Amino acid sequence: MALNKSQGNMYEFVTHTWNTVKGTCPHDCGYCYMKGIAKRFNKPQSPVHFDESELKTNLGSGNFIFVGSSNDLFANDIPADWILKTLNHCDKFDNRYLFQSKNPAGFNILMAHPVARKSVICTTIESDIIHPQMGNTPTPTYRALYMDTMPEIDKYVTIEPIMDFRLDLFVSLIKRCNPKQVNIGADTGKNHLSEPPKEKVLELIAELEKFTVVKQKSNLSRLLK
Ligand code: SF4
Repeated sequence: MALNKSQGNMYEFVTHTWNTVKGTCPHDCGYCYMKGIAKRFNKPQSPVHFDESELKTNLGSGNFIFVGSSNDLFANDIPADWILKTLNHCDKFDNRYLFQSKNPAGFNILMAHPVARKSVICTTIESDIIHPQMGNTPTPTYRALYMDTMPEIDKYVTIEPIMDFRLDLFVSLIKRCNPKQVNIGADTGKNHLSEPPKEKVLELIAELEKFTVVKQKSNLSRLLK
């Protein structure tokens, strides 16, 4: 199986993506890009599974690989064995890795693994408010509190797709994660989300820039017109 070149809709430092866990993601977010693709091609997603053939992939060297870009490798329902096989394979190569999850409690298994020393972690927090399109994910507060428990690693936060929020509470959740950088993006899938007005997004960016680097993704421009 091949290592995939990053499509440019990610952190700028990510060069490739690689996935061992495939099929229906247990988090079942209403706006999920992978669900959207399956729907567009009228092809139901397979049940969640581990693709053993991916363990033959040469991950190369000098790459920055987003591992698990099409599922959530650290979701509660993912067996620890699948996670460990993935981490063990990563550790055979001289690369850096991005692991992203909406269940940061699952990062405990990564933090106890040698590959953590060449990795960064990220969580998505779309809002401080629990919106129905967040599916079965842990709450935004839970995500932030778990990120806070992992001080020994570089951390990132993705606010995408941004949904309406309460400014003070949202900023305090993001701050709690102590992120090196925050990416902000908007829905690209016409998922009818409750989105914040332009002024509120600008206020959020101004508050976040007081303590971290903020990168606006190109898809955010729709909300800033
Ligand atoms: S966590 Fe990511 S991959 Fe899983 S359902 Fe949500 S958007 Fe899709």
